[in-house]
Amino acid sequence: MAEVPVQTPVVTFQPDGSKIHNVSGHKFKAVLLPQPCFCSQCHKFIYGIGKQGYQCQLCDKVVHKKCHADVAALCTCAPQVTSSGSPESPLLEAQPNIHNFSASFYTLPTFCGHCGYLLYGCVKQGVRCAGCHVNVHHRCQEKATQNCSS
Ligand SMILES: [Zn+2]
Ligand SMILES: [Zn+2]
Ligand SMILES: [Zn+2]
Ligand SMILES: [Zn+2]
Repeated sequence: MAEVPVQTPVVTFQPDGSKIHNVSGHKFKAVLLPQPCFCSQCHKFIYGIGKQGYQCQLCDKVVHKKCHADVAALCTCAPQVTSSGSPESPLLEAQPNIHNFSASFYTLPTFCGHCGYLLYGCVKQGVRCAGCHVNVHHRCQEKATQNCSS
């Protein structure tokens, strides 16, 4: 039945009563954001009182509550659904364009291109791709989508 999960948010309930919104392989959960954060869907700030953001429990992506249903990019950390109708088979044939990350130093507040959180600290807060110049946290570089646009 549900052969095309993309764009079809499915809500499941956790044992603790919290709701998980399943979209494109992401498992979004309403979260209180401890710090300013960018929505990785609309690239605007997420702010306000209460649980304004939805964070994927797998890849740490954060989006607005109102944006989560629009997320079409597949979760990079979700287990691959084995279906013969898969439009792409990454890793098997051509390697995707992998980012060329190296540790970087930022003098201005910079937000992670993956999870949307601020890159914290004073030195080597994150890594930057030499190709497309995207900046992400050290902890996010493995999760960052490997589609370098350079
Ligand atoms: Zn995800
Ligand atoms: Zn948004
Ligand atoms: Zn990050
Ligand atoms: Zn790149």
